[in-house]
This record gives sequence, C-alpha cells and structure tokens, in this order.
Amino acid sequence: MTKNFVLRKLMRPWDDFLNLLFPRLCLACNEPVAFDEAHICLDCQALLPETDFHLSKINDFTARFEGRLPVEAAAALFFFTKKSKTQHLIHQIKYQDKREAAFDLGRYYGQKLLQQPHFQGIDYLIPVPMHIKKRIQRGFNQAEIFANGLSETLNVPVNTSVLTKIKATETQTKKTRLERLKNAEDVFHLTDKTLLRDKKILIVDDVMTSGATLEGCANSILAETPTTKIYFVTLAIAKTT
Ligand SMILES: [Zn+2]
Repeated sequence: MTKNFVLRKLMRPWDDFLNLLFPRLCLACNEPVAFDEAHICLDCQALLPETDFHLSKINDFTARFEGRLPVEAAAALFFFTKKSKTQHLIHQIKYQDKREAAFDLGRYYGQKLLQQPHFQGIDYLIPVPMHIKKRIQRGFNQAEIFANGLSETLNVPVNTSVLTKIKATETQTKKTRLERLKNAEDVFHLTDKTLLRDKKILIVDDVMTSGATLEGCANSILAETPTTKIYFVTLAIAKTT
C-alpha cells in the first residue's frame, strides 16, 4: 500500500502529462475526469442511482426470490437500466478492462455492508464463476474483481475454487425464464461437498437481471449442503419495468 502510494507520487508529473495528451474519461458519462477523481467523475458519483438495498433485510432484491429460494440478505450497489450511466460503467469494466473500477466499487460497497447487522458473520465470498474459455478470452472475471474489493473491506476471504462453471452457457436472450433457470442449474458444479456446510456464503455477481444465474449457483450449493446460508451482492440490479 505504502509502496504504491510513493510510486504514485513519483509518477504524478508523468500522469499529469499523459492526462493532458490523453484525457482520462469518466467510466459512467465519458466526460474527462480530473487527476484527483478516480474512475467516476464527481457529478456521476453524486448522480449514479444507488439502491440503498443494504439498509433493509427485506427489499426488492430479496423479494425476487421469495417462495423460490431462502435468501438471508441481498443487496446491489446501483440500479441498472438500458442506455444508462450504470450500463456504460459496467460495459467499460467488462469490455474495456477497467477492472480497477470494479475493485474500488467493491471496497466502497463493502464499507456500507459492514455497518449492516444482516451482513455480519459471512464465511466466504463466492464470485459467480466464469467458464474457463471465456475467462481466458476476457483475461479476468469482473464478479471476482468486485468480490476482491468487497473482501478487502469486509475482511472475508474470496473462494474461487469451490464453485466452478463446467460448460459455457448458451446465449440466454431467446430463452424463457424457466429455460434460463434450467440452463444455469446445469452449469455450476461444487468441487467440495462439505466446505460450505453450515456456512454463511455471499455469492457475488456484476449484474442481477432475471436472477437465474444467482439462483443456479445457490441451488447447486444447497443441493449438496442444504444448511448453507445464502447471501447475494451485485454491482447492479436491473430495474423491473
Ligand atoms: Zn461522469
């Protein structure tokens, strides 16, 4: 940490110079950001729609799993709608390799979750796994990077080996909800059948849309260890229309 800080101080004139030549752009609105601003400009930091779901044990996120899955608590940092700044931000993270932003947002949201009684005592953070082929292609799993940020402030370890993805998901867009659910359940595999017994685990993803992926992960865990307590946290949640 200190070493990084010193290095950044030394590099600052060079950074300023580069910034002049190639202005860094806000990942949410695409406007140039000042050196001191991180990945998101101050305007967007104030305006990006935060859900505040973490403040209540029962919220619109948990409601989507009611009667389908026992969820202890669930929260998302931002609301996600098409063509929104949140969508732009997530696209930049995924397709322009802005993984540091995912990490920093994880740290930021971890601080908020830490203060909530219903997010205490978590044993593991488990990012939704990405198929190995896709991971090699992209070079990173954004859910894992977001989980690493959460881990730093929550002080809970990330486990990337206990849950794996065994085949690439076919494109989900033309499928019905039931088909999507079936598809998601097929692909997740638990490598250790006892590790998560009686544990509180927080499954982490980038965007929650239909919930089929999170449900698929949770069900493949609960099928082996029904006493595991399930929590969900995502970077964003799609607004239901
Ligand atoms: Zn902005």
